Amino acid sequence: MLTRRRALTIGGAAAVGAAGTAALLTGGQDTPPAARPAAPAAGPPAHRALKPSAYRLEPLTGYGPPRAAAHGRTLVRHEPLLRVSGRGRTMVLTFDDGPDPRYTPDILRTLREHDVRAMFFVCGEMAVDNTDLLAEMTEDGHVVGNHTWSHPLLTRLTRSEIRSQMERTSEVVEDACGEPPVWFRAPYGAWNRAAFQLGADLGMEPLGWTVDTLDWMTPGVRTIADRVERGAAPGVVVLSHDAGGDRSQSVRALRDYLPELLDSGYDITVPTRHYT
Ligand SMILES: [Zn+2]
Repeated sequence: MLTRRRALTIGGAAAVGAAGTAALLTGGQDTPPAARPAAPAAGPPAHRALKPSAYRLEPLTGYGPPRAAAHGRTLVRHEPLLRVSGRGRTMVLTFDDGPDPRYTPDILRTLREHDVRAMFFVCGEMAVDNTDLLAEMTEDGHVVGNHTWSHPLLTRLTRSEIRSQMERTSEVVEDACGEPPVWFRAPYGAWNRAAFQLGADLGMEPLGWTVDTLDWMTPGVRTIADRVERGAAPGVVVLSHDAGGDRSQSVRALRDYLPELLDSGYDITVPTRHYT
Protein backbone atom coordinates (compact mmCIF):
# COMPACT_ATOMS: atom_id res chain seq x y z
CA MET A 1 0.00 0.00 0.00
CA LEU A 2 1.05 3.51 -0.61
CA THR A 3 1.84 5.42 2.51
CA ARG A 4 0.69 8.95 2.91
CA ARG A 5 3.41 11.12 1.56
CA ARG A 6 4.42 14.68 1.92
CA ALA A 7 3.84 16.59 -1.23
CA LEU A 8 6.81 17.83 -3.13
CA THR A 9 7.43 21.13 -4.76
CA ILE A 10 8.29 21.16 -8.42
CA GLY A 11 10.34 23.81 -10.11
CA GLY A 12 8.82 26.04 -12.73
CA ALA A 13 7.58 29.50 -13.36
CA ALA A 14 3.83 29.32 -13.07
CA ALA A 15 2.40 29.33 -9.63
CA VAL A 16 -0.58 27.67 -8.12
CA GLY A 17 -1.12 28.76 -4.59
CA ALA A 18 -2.69 26.73 -1.87
CA ALA A 19 -4.52 28.97 0.54
CA GLY A 20 -4.43 31.94 -1.78
CA THR A 21 -5.48 30.04 -4.83
CA ALA A 22 -9.01 31.23 -5.14
CA ALA A 23 -7.88 34.80 -5.60
CA LEU A 24 -5.05 33.80 -7.86
CA LEU A 25 -7.05 31.57 -10.07
CA THR A 26 -10.48 33.04 -10.38
CA GLY A 27 -9.63 36.42 -11.79
CA GLY A 28 -9.70 35.55 -15.42
CA GLN A 29 -9.73 39.18 -16.52
CA ASP A 30 -6.82 38.47 -18.76
CA THR A 31 -8.67 35.74 -20.55
CA PRO A 32 -11.41 36.56 -23.03
CA PRO A 33 -14.51 34.42 -22.68
CA ALA A 34 -13.71 32.74 -25.97
CA ALA A 35 -10.58 31.33 -24.46
CA ARG A 36 -12.42 29.45 -21.81
CA PRO A 37 -15.37 27.81 -23.42
CA ALA A 38 -17.70 25.59 -21.48
CA ALA A 39 -16.55 22.97 -23.91
CA PRO A 40 -17.75 19.42 -24.00
CA ALA A 41 -14.82 18.73 -21.84
CA ALA A 42 -12.56 16.08 -21.03
CA GLY A 43 -10.98 13.60 -22.99
CA PRO A 44 -11.51 10.83 -25.38
CA PRO A 45 -14.64 8.78 -24.99
CA ALA A 46 -12.52 5.84 -25.92
CA HIS A 47 -14.06 3.53 -23.40
CA ARG A 48 -17.67 4.61 -23.22
CA ALA A 49 -20.14 7.18 -24.31
CA LEU A 50 -21.15 9.71 -21.75
CA LYS A 51 -23.79 12.29 -21.50
CA PRO A 52 -21.79 15.49 -21.99
CA SER A 53 -23.37 17.10 -18.98
CA ALA A 54 -21.98 14.36 -16.80
CA TYR A 55 -18.45 15.56 -17.19
CA ARG A 56 -18.65 19.13 -18.29
CA LEU A 57 -16.57 21.52 -16.26
CA GLU A 58 -18.03 24.59 -14.73
CA PRO A 59 -16.84 28.00 -15.87
CA LEU A 60 -13.99 29.71 -14.12
CA THR A 61 -15.98 31.29 -11.40
CA GLY A 62 -17.33 30.39 -8.04
CA TYR A 63 -14.40 28.81 -6.30
CA GLY A 64 -14.45 29.02 -2.61
CA PRO A 65 -11.34 28.70 -0.55
CA PRO A 66 -10.02 25.23 0.13
CA ARG A 67 -12.11 23.45 2.72
CA ALA A 68 -9.48 23.09 5.40
CA ALA A 69 -5.94 24.10 5.98
CA ALA A 70 -3.44 21.88 7.72
CA HIS A 71 0.22 22.64 7.72
CA GLY A 72 2.20 20.38 5.46
CA ARG A 73 -0.86 18.66 4.10
CA THR A 74 -2.56 19.07 0.79
CA LEU A 75 -5.78 20.95 1.11
CA VAL A 76 -9.03 19.33 0.06
CA ARG A 77 -10.58 21.35 -2.73
CA HIS A 78 -14.07 21.19 -4.09
CA GLU A 79 -13.19 22.35 -7.59
CA PRO A 80 -10.15 21.58 -9.70
CA LEU A 81 -7.71 24.31 -10.57
CA LEU A 82 -8.38 25.36 -14.15
CA ARG A 83 -5.61 27.85 -14.79
CA VAL A 84 -2.31 28.99 -13.42
CA SER A 85 -0.95 32.36 -12.50
CA GLY A 86 2.46 33.63 -13.34
CA ARG A 87 4.39 36.61 -14.42
CA GLY A 88 3.77 37.57 -17.99
CA ARG A 89 2.39 35.33 -20.65
CA THR A 90 2.56 31.97 -18.94
CA MET A 91 0.83 28.91 -20.34
CA VAL A 92 0.83 25.21 -19.49
CA LEU A 93 0.53 22.35 -21.97
CA THR A 94 -0.85 19.04 -20.70
CA PHE A 95 -0.95 15.65 -22.40
CA ASP A 96 -3.26 12.97 -21.05
CA ASP A 97 -3.87 9.22 -21.07
CA GLY A 98 -0.37 8.04 -21.98
CA PRO A 99 2.31 7.29 -22.29
CA ASP A 100 1.98 5.62 -25.68
CA PRO A 101 5.22 4.59 -27.40
CA ARG A 102 3.66 5.45 -30.76
CA TYR A 103 3.13 9.14 -29.94
CA THR A 104 4.73 10.19 -26.67
CA PRO A 105 8.33 10.04 -27.94
CA ASP A 106 7.43 12.44 -30.78
CA ILE A 107 5.89 14.87 -28.33
CA LEU A 108 8.90 14.63 -26.05
CA ARG A 109 11.17 15.30 -29.01
CA THR A 110 9.25 18.42 -30.04
CA LEU A 111 9.25 19.76 -26.49
CA ARG A 112 12.97 19.10 -26.25
CA GLU A 113 13.67 20.86 -29.53
CA HIS A 114 12.04 23.98 -28.13
CA ASP A 115 13.40 23.53 -24.60
CA VAL A 116 9.89 23.54 -23.18
CA ARG A 117 8.50 21.78 -20.12
CA ALA A 118 4.98 20.31 -20.06
CA MET A 119 2.73 18.07 -17.95
CA PHE A 120 1.83 14.46 -18.67
CA PHE A 121 -1.17 13.03 -16.85
CA VAL A 122 -0.47 9.34 -17.20
CA CYS A 123 -2.65 6.31 -16.68
CA GLY A 124 -1.08 3.59 -14.55
CA GLU A 125 -1.92 0.80 -16.95
CA MET A 126 -0.08 2.65 -19.72
CA ALA A 127 2.74 3.84 -17.49
CA VAL A 128 3.58 0.43 -16.07
CA ASP A 129 4.60 -0.82 -19.50
CA ASN A 130 6.40 2.38 -20.46
CA THR A 131 8.38 3.35 -17.42
CA ASP A 132 11.27 4.33 -19.69
CA LEU A 133 9.09 7.10 -21.09
CA LEU A 134 8.19 8.28 -17.59
CA ALA A 135 11.85 8.41 -16.71
CA GLU A 136 12.50 10.37 -19.89
CA MET A 137 9.77 12.85 -18.97
CA THR A 138 11.33 13.39 -15.56
CA GLU A 139 14.80 13.69 -17.01
CA ASP A 140 13.58 16.40 -19.38
CA GLY A 141 11.99 18.34 -16.53
CA HIS A 142 8.38 17.56 -17.37
CA VAL A 143 5.80 17.02 -14.65
CA VAL A 144 4.17 13.61 -14.46
CA GLY A 145 0.68 13.67 -13.00
CA ASN A 146 -1.74 10.94 -11.96
CA HIS A 147 -4.68 10.27 -14.31
CA THR A 148 -5.88 7.06 -12.58
CA TRP A 149 -4.99 3.50 -13.46
CA SER A 150 -7.51 2.64 -16.20
CA HIS A 151 -9.29 5.92 -16.98
CA PRO A 152 -12.65 5.09 -15.41
CA LEU A 153 -15.47 7.48 -14.68
CA LEU A 154 -14.72 8.04 -11.01
CA THR A 155 -18.25 9.10 -10.21
CA ARG A 156 -19.34 5.52 -10.85
CA LEU A 157 -16.76 3.93 -8.56
CA THR A 158 -16.75 3.22 -4.88
CA ARG A 159 -14.41 5.16 -2.67
CA SER A 160 -12.06 2.19 -2.29
CA GLU A 161 -12.00 1.68 -6.04
CA ILE A 162 -11.07 5.32 -6.55
CA ARG A 163 -8.38 5.00 -3.92
CA SER A 164 -6.94 1.95 -5.66
CA GLN A 165 -6.99 3.71 -9.05
CA MET A 166 -5.03 6.59 -7.59
CA GLU A 167 -2.64 4.72 -5.33
CA ARG A 168 -1.51 2.16 -7.87
CA THR A 169 -0.81 4.89 -10.39
CA SER A 170 1.11 7.00 -7.90
CA GLU A 171 3.24 3.98 -7.06
CA VAL A 172 4.15 3.39 -10.70
CA VAL A 173 5.00 7.07 -11.13
CA GLU A 174 7.13 7.10 -8.00
CA ASP A 175 9.00 3.98 -9.05
CA ALA A 176 9.71 5.37 -12.52
CA CYS A 177 10.28 9.03 -11.69
CA GLY A 178 11.73 8.87 -8.20
CA GLU A 179 8.97 10.99 -6.69
CA PRO A 180 5.23 10.47 -6.34
CA PRO A 181 3.01 12.69 -8.44
CA VAL A 182 1.76 15.92 -6.86
CA TRP A 183 -0.91 16.60 -9.48
CA PHE A 184 -4.04 14.64 -10.26
CA ARG A 185 -6.59 14.93 -13.04
CA ALA A 186 -9.88 13.03 -13.07
CA PRO A 187 -10.71 11.22 -16.32
CA TYR A 188 -13.31 13.15 -18.34
CA GLY A 189 -12.96 15.96 -15.82
CA ALA A 190 -15.50 14.06 -13.73
CA TRP A 191 -14.61 15.05 -10.19
CA ASN A 192 -16.37 14.15 -7.00
CA ARG A 193 -15.79 14.63 -3.33
CA ALA A 194 -13.98 11.33 -2.91
CA ALA A 195 -11.60 12.19 -5.75
CA PHE A 196 -10.70 15.50 -4.11
CA GLN A 197 -10.31 13.95 -0.67
CA LEU A 198 -8.31 10.92 -1.77
CA GLY A 199 -6.17 13.01 -4.08
CA ALA A 200 -5.32 15.31 -1.19
CA ASP A 201 -4.59 12.29 1.01
CA LEU A 202 -1.99 11.28 -1.54
CA GLY A 203 -0.52 14.78 -1.65
CA MET A 204 -1.94 15.70 -5.04
CA GLU A 205 -3.60 18.89 -6.24
CA PRO A 206 -6.46 18.60 -8.75
CA LEU A 207 -5.78 20.24 -12.09
CA GLY A 208 -8.37 20.72 -14.79
CA TRP A 209 -7.79 22.78 -17.91
CA THR A 210 -8.78 26.03 -19.57
CA VAL A 211 -8.63 25.19 -23.28
CA ASP A 212 -9.72 21.80 -24.60
CA THR A 213 -8.25 21.04 -28.01
CA LEU A 214 -10.76 18.21 -28.49
CA ASP A 215 -7.92 16.51 -30.31
CA TRP A 216 -9.37 13.09 -29.50
CA MET A 217 -12.10 13.82 -32.07
CA THR A 218 -9.30 14.03 -34.71
CA PRO A 219 -10.61 17.30 -36.17
CA GLY A 220 -7.46 17.85 -38.20
CA VAL A 221 -4.02 19.18 -37.39
CA ARG A 222 -4.87 22.78 -38.32
CA THR A 223 -8.03 22.79 -36.22
CA ILE A 224 -6.17 21.55 -33.17
CA ALA A 225 -3.44 24.14 -33.62
CA ASP A 226 -6.03 26.88 -34.20
CA ARG A 227 -7.81 26.01 -30.97
CA VAL A 228 -4.60 26.36 -29.01
CA GLU A 229 -3.55 29.57 -30.73
CA ARG A 230 -6.99 31.17 -30.39
CA GLY A 231 -7.28 30.06 -26.80
CA ALA A 232 -3.83 31.30 -25.90
CA ALA A 233 -3.84 33.73 -22.98
CA PRO A 234 -1.88 34.18 -19.79
CA GLY A 235 -2.60 31.41 -17.29
CA VAL A 236 -4.23 29.06 -19.76
CA VAL A 237 -3.90 25.32 -19.28
CA VAL A 238 -4.24 23.40 -22.55
CA LEU A 239 -5.59 19.85 -22.72
CA SER A 240 -4.52 17.42 -25.41
CA HIS A 241 -3.68 13.72 -25.57
CA ASP A 242 -0.70 11.52 -26.33
CA ALA A 243 -2.63 8.24 -26.09
CA GLY A 244 -6.08 6.68 -26.15
CA GLY A 245 -6.39 6.40 -29.93
CA ASP A 246 -4.70 7.70 -33.06
CA ARG A 247 -2.91 10.78 -31.79
CA SER A 248 -0.85 11.54 -34.87
CA GLN A 249 -2.81 14.78 -35.36
CA SER A 250 -1.99 15.85 -31.82
CA VAL A 251 1.68 15.12 -32.44
CA ARG A 252 1.76 17.16 -35.63
CA ALA A 253 -0.32 20.01 -34.24
CA LEU A 254 2.16 20.51 -31.42
CA ARG A 255 4.89 21.03 -34.00
CA ASP A 256 2.78 23.85 -35.43
CA TYR A 257 1.40 25.63 -32.39
CA LEU A 258 4.36 25.37 -30.04
CA PRO A 259 6.68 27.58 -32.12
CA GLU A 260 3.73 29.92 -32.73
CA LEU A 261 3.13 30.32 -29.00
CA LEU A 262 6.81 30.88 -28.34
CA ASP A 263 7.03 33.44 -31.16
CA SER A 264 4.06 35.21 -29.59
CA GLY A 265 6.01 35.58 -26.38
CA TYR A 266 4.39 32.87 -24.32
CA ASP A 267 6.37 31.24 -21.56
CA ILE A 268 5.37 27.58 -21.78
CA THR A 269 6.06 26.08 -18.42
CA VAL A 270 4.87 23.80 -15.65
CA PRO A 271 3.13 24.92 -12.47
CA THR A 272 4.64 25.07 -9.06
CA ARG A 273 2.76 24.41 -5.90
CA HIS A 274 2.96 26.89 -3.08
CA TYR A 275 2.38 25.83 0.48
CA THR A 276 1.26 28.44 2.90
ZN1 LIG B 1 -8.06 11.28 -19.97
